Amino acid sequence: MDDRDQQVAGTDPHVLNGLLEQAVNNLSLGIVLFDADRKLIFCNQRYMQMYGLSADQVRPGTPTKTLIEHRLKLGLKVRGEAKDYVRARTEGEIRDERTVQEFADGRIIAYAIHSLPDGRGMATHEDITEREELSARLHQRNMQFDIAINNMSHGLCFFDADHRLNVCNRLFIDMYGLPPERVRAGMPLSEIFELRFEAGSVPEMTRAEYATWRTGVAVSAEPIDSIVEMKNGRTFKIRHRPMPDLGWVATHEDITEQRQTELKIAHMAHHDALTDLANRSLLNQRLEQAFTSGEAFAIHHIDLDKFKSVNDTLGHHAGDALLRGVSERLRKLVRPCDTIARMGGDEFIVLQTPIGDRNEASALAECIIREMSMPFELDGQQTTAGASVGLAIVPGDGATPEHALRNADLALYRAKSDGRGTYRFFEPAMDEQVQSRRALEHDLRKALAAGELELHYQPLVQTGTGGVTGVEALIRWRHPERGLIPPNSFIPLAEEIGLIVPIGEWVIRQACMTASRWPDRLHVAVNISAAQFHHPGLAEVIVSALAGSGLDARRLEIEITESVLLQDKEGTLAMLHRLRALGIRIAMDDFGTGYSSLTYLQCFPFDKIKIDRSFIRDIATDAGSLNIVRAIAALASGMGMAATAEGVETQEQLACIAAEGCTEVQGFLFSRPLPAAEIERKFLSTEAPAVPGRFAAA
Ligand code: C2E
Ligand code: MG
Ligand code: MG
Repeated sequence: MDDRDQQVAGTDPHVLNGLLEQAVNNLSLGIVLFDADRKLIFCNQRYMQMYGLSADQVRPGTPTKTLIEHRLKLGLKVRGEAKDYVRARTEGEIRDERTVQEFADGRIIAYAIHSLPDGRGMATHEDITEREELSARLHQRNMQFDIAINNMSHGLCFFDADHRLNVCNRLFIDMYGLPPERVRAGMPLSEIFELRFEAGSVPEMTRAEYATWRTGVAVSAEPIDSIVEMKNGRTFKIRHRPMPDLGWVATHEDITEQRQTELKIAHMAHHDALTDLANRSLLNQRLEQAFTSGEAFAIHHIDLDKFKSVNDTLGHHAGDALLRGVSERLRKLVRPCDTIARMGGDEFIVLQTPIGDRNEASALAECIIREMSMPFELDGQQTTAGASVGLAIVPGDGATPEHALRNADLALYRAKSDGRGTYRFFEPAMDEQVQSRRALEHDLRKALAAGELELHYQPLVQTGTGGVTGVEALIRWRHPERGLIPPNSFIPLAEEIGLIVPIGEWVIRQACMTASRWPDRLHVAVNISAAQFHHPGLAEVIVSALAGSGLDARRLEIEITESVLLQDKEGTLAMLHRLRALGIRIAMDDFGTGYSSLTYLQCFPFDKIKIDRSFIRDIATDAGSLNIVRAIAALASGMGMAATAEGVETQEQLACIAAEGCTEVQGFLFSRPLPAAEIERKFLSTEAPAVPGRFAAA
């Protein structure tokens, strides 16, 4: 027996054998037994340790009151007065009690009184300080966790290995529109799906499809991120992360706005801002797809015929409105599988894919042209767009997207040069024409400097006297390889690429120079293109050519066509008056071929009307032509203008014309256009007859 045995106070060694003593003393509980008078019978060592009691202080017979007071001295915290506390535990019957007692030093003791038979009692004291601290810490952790998950910007849920909900945050419930009272820990995943189907917060899938997919994710041991678009329009990003206990955690992020922004940016990268049609980049993607699909398709390259004039006359605002209107109409003509793209300006591409045969392509092209010829209402004004369409069909018209697009462009070019408002299929010959046009352009750019241009002159003859009154200067290009090229083969190109301005200036200077060497009675006529006429500086060029050559302005005549008057009528008239003021004569060329608008004749007093060759050609056989010539000649005479007939080739034609009152004629009957030296030899030398022989016969 050690000294601990002696401290087991008031015991009869026969009652407590050594084993029991040891057991009681080794308990982690402090134990106190007392009698009905509340006098100590026994306490164990743990009790003494807990309250620092000596053997003396716990001698049997010690009143429990003393022990309670001892604990109060140690700092036991009680509610109310200490003496009341003591009295309640020392008077009257022994009552069962269970409390947790705190001491000033922070210790926490679980304290219990048990009444025993014979009026005795037992008290147990258990130091639960550590346990309490632990649970306080746990509690705090839980609270922090709660605060954290309920304040995060993502929905969060934990599931266990059996797919039952452990915990989820409030946002998870709100995001999916779940009824909060029906969400509880332990509910199976399938029930949550059910609630989500009720709320509509699921993608466009059947219950079975969705359950299969999500359960597949749930049992996966891999982290999986998925983006889910709900029927209700929201988009969630779900990050699934497996946990070591075979459960999983998932965060749910509402990325609807972010997604919409991304989609918007992606949309902007692939669409034209004005019309919202596909842009070049999207078209290229679709073309690649069309090529890889192996199916036949058509590329319609559309160009608006009147866009430029709408833009110029009604302004950019109206131009934009027209482009939007055109886009709307195109949208109505195509199928969902087709693509419409705006290539910039007034050029559009329709990718018609797939097609069964060429007829489907031509049918759509016809529809497009018809729709575009219907009037558009712009700012209260009616206007039409008009369209030309070039068509390339794959397979056949190009092995790559670039090639097929280029071929559709070539076909468009043909449709436009064939008079617009029509469509053309690509043909291999178009490619050759473009190549040769390109070569011609290249050569033309060098022709002027290389001295390859020359002027020929064609006499104009007075019907009454048969005398030559003047000449018309007509340009030719002596190409080093191709020989003499007529103006109709290169003037339109020169106009298109702007070369007409320097070439035209050369013509004016050259014609003035040559004519200045000739008798004063001869005037010289020069053709001025619309592009040249509207180019600033024309008057200066003319003035300087006259000054440089010393030619009297009254001997210079300029020939313009109606097309000059189509654009900027006010400015054009001002310019014509300015030239007229210098003494220059103005002729209306090719009259009868264009709009032949009488208002043009009315708005400016032309000196001369040149009746187009096409009327003269048939004058002897076609009554219609004869009537037209007659009418124009009468009109000219009535307005005090000279009437010149172009292209007189036969005596018969000459006879008709003279009879109808044309004052002047020009044509192969008298002379072809000739180099200056030839003109001088044939018409201006002293031997030359004043009146060409054949004319005399008329
Ligand atoms: P245009 O001004 O109407 O010139 C008359 C055209 O008719 C000339 O053709 C002339 O050779 C042709 N011609 C004259 N008499 C007859 C005839 O009896 N029968 C036939 N079949 N043709 C006849 P060319 O020289 O080929 O010129 C064609 C057009 O080119 C001119 O038509 C004019 O519009 C333009 N052009 C010619 N030179 C110039 C120029 O220096 N500048 C500009 N801008 N245009 C020019
Ligand atoms: Mg002419
Ligand atoms: Mg003419």
